[in-house]
Amino acid sequence: MGLLTEGSPLSWEETKKNAQHVREHGITQFINLYKKLRDREGDILKWGDEVEYIIVKFLDDKQQCKVSLRSHELLTILNQKELEDPTGVNSLWRPEYGSYMIEGTPGKPYGGLLAHFNIVEANMRNRRKEVTELLNSDEAILSITSFPRLGSEDFTYPPTKPTPDQGATRSLFFPDEAIYNGHPRFKTLSRNIRMRRGEKVAINLPVFRDKNTKIPVDDSYKHSKAALKDHVYMDAMGFGMGCCCLQLTFQACNITEARTLYDQLTPLCPIMLAFTAASPLYRGFVTDVDCRWNVISHSVDCRTEEERGLKPLNENKFVINKSRYDSIDSYLSPQGEKYNDIPLLYNEEDYKKLVDNGIDHLLAGHIAHLFIRDTVSLFSEKVHQNDEEDSDHFENIQSTNWQTMRFKPPPPHSTIGWRVEFRPCEAQITDFENAAIVCFVVLLTRVILSYQLNFLIPISKVDENMQKAQKRNAAREEKFWFRRDITTHVSPPAAAECCRAGTTNWDIKECDMFGQMTVNEIINGKPGEFPGLISLINNYLSGMDVDADTHCTIQQYLKFIQRRASGEILTTASWIRKYVTEHPDYRNDSVVSEKINYDLMKTINAIQKGDKYCPLLLGASTMSKTKDSVPSALNEC
Ligand code: ADP
Ligand code: MG
Ligand code: MG
Repeated sequence: MGLLTEGSPLSWEETKKNAQHVREHGITQFINLYKKLRDREGDILKWGDEVEYIIVKFLDDKQQCKVSLRSHELLTILNQKELEDPTGVNSLWRPEYGSYMIEGTPGKPYGGLLAHFNIVEANMRNRRKEVTELLNSDEAILSITSFPRLGSEDFTYPPTKPTPDQGATRSLFFPDEAIYNGHPRFKTLSRNIRMRRGEKVAINLPVFRDKNTKIPVDDSYKHSKAALKDHVYMDAMGFGMGCCCLQLTFQACNITEARTLYDQLTPLCPIMLAFTAASPLYRGFVTDVDCRWNVISHSVDCRTEEERGLKPLNENKFVINKSRYDSIDSYLSPQGEKYNDIPLLYNEEDYKKLVDNGIDHLLAGHIAHLFIRDTVSLFSEKVHQNDEEDSDHFENIQSTNWQTMRFKPPPPHSTIGWRVEFRPCEAQITDFENAAIVCFVVLLTRVILSYQLNFLIPISKVDENMQKAQKRNAAREEKFWFRRDITTHVSPPAAAECCRAGTTNWDIKECDMFGQMTVNEIINGKPGEFPGLISLINNYLSGMDVDADTHCTIQQYLKFIQRRASGEILTTASWIRKYVTEHPDYRNDSVVSEKINYDLMKTINAIQKGDKYCPLLLGASTMSKTKDSVPSALNEC
């Protein structure tokens, strides 16, 4: 969830008029923040996860499953507890885009103890329990990335109808009632993105072509010229922002460490996206992709036709080659600089203002680049601000640049330090899997910093990997660009040739430093060529003192990661595909019927609760020794 400002949203016309105002003041606010906080030192490692959930309702008599539009009601109760005991609650709850979604985070961030890895899963479990207690017996809270029949006929409970001729979204499929109604941000964003773009957003996913798949897949093409006949067409922000994900935020000890983490985690984004792939089904169809990423990217693509390069520039300034939801465009650390090989667009005057105020060119380029986007949500009470004290205009643009990584400056007047957010992962079915992934990524950050590892590859190759990561079965079949020599920061002579700063045409074949590897090779290693992330982590752990239960839990998590990477067990996406295509009602036509959807959601709920054992998804042993709190002896030191 991003910035939630209270107040009255301005109309799109008013918002548009204020675009330059927000840009100027947002940049000034960043400069003021930076001047106050650039030398901030000594923050300790803190980190936390965010899991998004979908509330579903089972209509058992009809054998149907719907998304339940109750998040506002649930959040009112959950937030009341937080209000009464802000520091004592176990979990914090926030709204998300869908009126059937909620986002949960731990009550407080975790710290630097290894023992903290042993409380993540228990916290996730308690979080679910807290919500489950508020649900009716025919409802469930699922951490699924996409609801398979989102946007199909009658997919909500209570039933709603889309309104193609009026409202915020004007979708053929997605009703405004499915947008969270407890805060105006979400509808305002939907309306303004559509209006800025000049038409509805358009998402076309290739359908998975089975024996009896009909082409055209449906009659969308008759209603919209944006619909491709052999694709599943979607026309609303909700199809993307209504998906769930798993995110992580880390606090660094200072700005330099935050830049290093931001850069070093960037090449891992596509790898972790492929590894966590969990969303092959959209609008009641089996598609040919495994991940949500491009769906969300298109679902908030506010670029005009000019900005998308479809018309000569006239009203707009730039052709922009990515949506505001996409992978990052530049590294921020000095080591990363030479791998910044894609053009970084910005307004010269914004960049100059940042540099003139003492901000180095890498950070200035990053911030100026974020500010090529116009505000798409502005509240009347917030137009005029004190740039010395407030940071809302900066946050306005920062929090609507939804990228794989986010570089987060300390909020004004807080004890929080420089942070980075890792945003690519899809939500997994069970708390065990989500906890395993969270702990794996946090351990990687420890290994990166302790061993000063170098995962950098050209940004253009990270972008290529992002596209590969979303293909069907990418975790098993694709090869990804990855750095072979992760222990050197100095380029060997051969590599130096192809790593000239500013080079845009990488002749990567001649470059020994990078190779193409499978997820299995990256995680489990390739003898003689690459050690593998797991062995680096094990090496790091072998030098650490850790209590027996935490040790056991971490080993369970790492084993699970190894098994999934090796293909011994399936990704969530592959498992879901298998479930659907082997369902007795499936007609080899790529259609996820009400009954298939119902059975799939029931099965997912049973697996999540531990009522059904699913070795194909989880492997042989998935019992961690997770606990509610760290051992008291450790807590005291
Ligand atoms: P978002 O930008 O996604 O809205 P927030 O800034 O609200 O996210 O941060 C949410 C995440 O950051 C949670 O996982 C929370 O536990 C974690 N978090 C909170 N405080 C800190 C901190 N000081 N350092 C690192 N992570 C933190
Ligand atoms: Mg969120
Ligand atoms: Mg987040």
